[in-house]
Formats: sequence, structure tokens, C-alpha cells
Amino acid sequence: MVSAKQTGMKCSICSGPATVRLEHFNLKLCPADFVRLVEQRIERAIVKFGMFDRTHRILVAVSGGKDSLSLWHALNRLGYRPDALFVRLGNSPLVDQAQAIVQKAAGSLPGKLNILDATDYSGRVSIQEVARVVRRPVCAVCGLARRYLINRFAVEHGYDVVASGHNLTDEAAALLGNLLHWHEGYLQRQWPLLPKTHPRFAAKAKPMALNYEQDIKLYAELNGIEHLADSCPFAVGATSRIYKRLLLELEQEQPGIIAAFYLGYVRREKPAQQPVPLRDCSRCSFPTTAEVCAFCRLQERFSRTQPTSAQKPCDMPQA
Ligand code: ZN
Repeated sequence: MVSAKQTGMKCSICSGPATVRLEHFNLKLCPADFVRLVEQRIERAIVKFGMFDRTHRILVAVSGGKDSLSLWHALNRLGYRPDALFVRLGNSPLVDQAQAIVQKAAGSLPGKLNILDATDYSGRVSIQEVARVVRRPVCAVCGLARRYLINRFAVEHGYDVVASGHNLTDEAAALLGNLLHWHEGYLQRQWPLLPKTHPRFAAKAKPMALNYEQDIKLYAELNGIEHLADSCPFAVGATSRIYKRLLLELEQEQPGIIAAFYLGYVRREKPAQQPVPLRDCSRCSFPTTAEVCAFCRLQERFSRTQPTSAQKPCDMPQA
């Protein structure tokens, strides 16, 4: 567990005064060595999984949360030169606040911040309203739209890879969920790097996958990285939260168990050798396993259900 309190401990690396105790790695660290450790673990993930190098065009998907903003910051410190993308999913004070935080971060970082409004694709209707009309959970619609729009933006703007802030704790919770339901197909899709397997599919990388969530939180704090305090209000009932809570309880009893669990997965599972064959969506031409991609199906279902001006009674042909 992390404690930033002055305790009289010695740093395991430099022997200076340590203020951080990491029980999961059995280390006591001074703030500077702690920051270095987090960045080394990011670099290790990038190299270990062959995510990208300093010649690649990298797009960090930023949400305003601690993970993605810390990643954007850390990649710059490590000598990468990423740009960032913020997708506005709806209109609410929280979305405005997230955008303001991301724009402020962009002011002190060299890369370009791109802002994409998801309501451009839904006739200015918010994601919550789309979810209500198509009768699907907001989280599902939001995740689908976000993944599609980020990939599409990356491809259309020539980025090699999209880097996201998924941390070790979240990945371990997703892994537990996939194992409990024996979603074997998802185990490969959860791999920290999804390579480019289609001309309109940008590689997806999770460089934070070897860092505990609590460490990223402290990293953000020590580096003065401003971020949204709350996670998404629509994710409160998500089952992955239950798995995360259970894993954190286990971690209390057995420090390091989350890292051991996730590292066991990356040692056993292999990246997909023969990925699922992808074809072009007949509507938008972006990759899909079906005739029409899930995003286009969602749009079609929304426009069918949502009364449009053409369907209003006053526009009907008069008898
Ligand atoms: Zn499509």
C-alpha cells in the first residue's frame, strides 16, 4: 500500500529518506525514485509487448482521468512525442470539466490536443439520449462509440497506434471477469497490444498495464497532474467494479497478488497469431466481423427508433 507520510524509512534504491511504501513490490521509495519506477514500468510494458518506438505517431486517448493524463505526461518524459484525443461524449457539466482539464494539460505538453464531438455522429443528441432510445446501457453505448470514434480518428489522421490509460488493477479486474465467465475469446482481445490487422484499424496499446492504479494516482499527485476526481457516474453499477473491489480486498491480505495474477496471464496467453478475420463494414468501410459494424448498426437503430422530420405525421403524404 502507498503511504506518502514521512516515516523515517530509507529508500530501497538511493537510501535517502523514503516517503512511499509499496507493499506490492516490497519497496520503500523516495518520491523521485517512485516516479522513476512508474515510468520504468511504462517503458518496460512498451518494450516487452512491442507497442511502439520513438519514430511512431502515437495518439493518447485522454478522458480527463488520472490514468490517461498521467500516461500523456509520462510518455513525454520518456522521450515519446504523442498527440492526444479527447472525445466529447454528450453535453454535461462533467464533460465540460473534463475538457477544461485536458485543455489545461495540453498547455504544458508539446503534442497536439484534438477534440472530437461524438454528437456530430448522432444529430447533436447526447449519448445518454441515444442509449435511452435504443434501450441499451449508457456504458455500453458510450464504450462502443468511444472505441469506434477513436479508431476512426487515428486512422483518418495517420496515427500508427492509440495508447490508452488502462492500468494493472483495471486489467486484472477485467481478466477476473473474463475467467469467471470463461470468455476465452476475450482473453486474447485483452492483450496489452492489439496490432494493426486491417488497413483501417490502428494498433491499440496499454502502456500502463504494469502499474497499479494506486501508484498512478500517487504519480499524478507527485507530478501535480490535475485530473477529474470522480470516475464516470454511469459506471457505478458496472460488474467490473465488483471484481476490482474483490481483488483489492485480496491485495490487502496478499500484497502483490494483483500483479501476480495479471503477469500469470501475460506469461501464459500469447498474442493472437491468427486474429479473427475482419472485413469492411458495408456502410462506413471500417473493420468489423459482421456485414455492418456495431457503430453503424447503433446509428441505424437510433434513426429508426427516433422520429425524424421525415417520419412526422405532418410530413406524411396527404390522402
Ligand atoms: Zn460501419
